[in-house]
Amino acid sequence: MPNVLYITSSSFSGSTLLSFLLNTHPDITTVGEMEGWKDADVNTFQCSCGAVLKTCPYFVKTAGVFEQHNLPFSPNDFGTGYRLVDNARFNQYLTESLPRIRHTRIEKLRDGMLRHMPGFSKQIEQNNRANVLFMQTALALTGAKVFVDADKSPYRLRYLQRLPEINLLPMYLVRDPRGVVTTFMENRGWDAALAMKVWIKEQLDILRILQEFPHSIRIYYEDLCEDVNGVLAQIHRFAGVTPQPFSGDFQAVEHHILGNSMRLDRVGKIVKSERWKTKLSAGDQETIARIARDFIERHRGHPLSDILARIEPIK
Ligand SMILES: [Zn+2]
Repeated sequence: MPNVLYITSSSFSGSTLLSFLLNTHPDITTVGEMEGWKDADVNTFQCSCGAVLKTCPYFVKTAGVFEQHNLPFSPNDFGTGYRLVDNARFNQYLTESLPRIRHTRIEKLRDGMLRHMPGFSKQIEQNNRANVLFMQTALALTGAKVFVDADKSPYRLRYLQRLPEINLLPMYLVRDPRGVVTTFMENRGWDAALAMKVWIKEQLDILRILQEFPHSIRIYYEDLCEDVNGVLAQIHRFAGVTPQPFSGDFQAVEHHILGNSMRLDRVGKIVKSERWKTKLSAGDQETIARIARDFIERHRGHPLSDILARIEPIK
């Protein structure tokens, strides 16, 4: 039964960088996000190996295996995402977070009901088979022992937890919220307060769902950048492989990782992104600090308070 390391985090928290770093270990393999790169045009989107998706030998081989097993496959949709209905928002209500309610028991009741509804149970079963087949194929193609799924959504952990074919190991990747908030503001047009509140909500979802797992590890993006070998060794041990230090260039190894534009960089060096220091106004930084302080004051001893207190000078 292979170990499957699952990265759960907010977007823009360094999961693509971490995927590349982990993939340099000979016993670990990953394609990054595990549902396929949905917005990619297979005729033009470049895989991190350099080939366009349609001709990338790795994905061509995977497609062949899926065909043998009568499962649909495309490099921009592996069939591994739990999509029960076409409407994205409605699907989120069915498989991830409910509107407004954040309650583990209610979510689990919903999940249990869906699993027993004929139309949905068939779809979930097919997605389960696609996940197991994809992981097995990736391990067979690379000779690795551990598969890394960097899909990020904590809700997906609950589906993977039910697969008897794998041993699931959750890893929580957390980054200074000011870095994430900056990109939320740029990419989604939010103000600092909304971006920070969304970030907090996402961390609370992750922390709540991780309580359902007996073992998990928490990795800070900043620690990864500052002490790459120390943090990698910690993850390697957690995943059950022999720790191996970083070579200094993660692009020296062949990758088929679907992720941000970083995947096409020629030289794989770690560059710690602290753009927020210049991009966030003093007012926005104060807004973020105030929301963080409010949370800490209201939730003493909460794991998220510990995470927030760690960030200078929010204390
Ligand atoms: Zn490729």
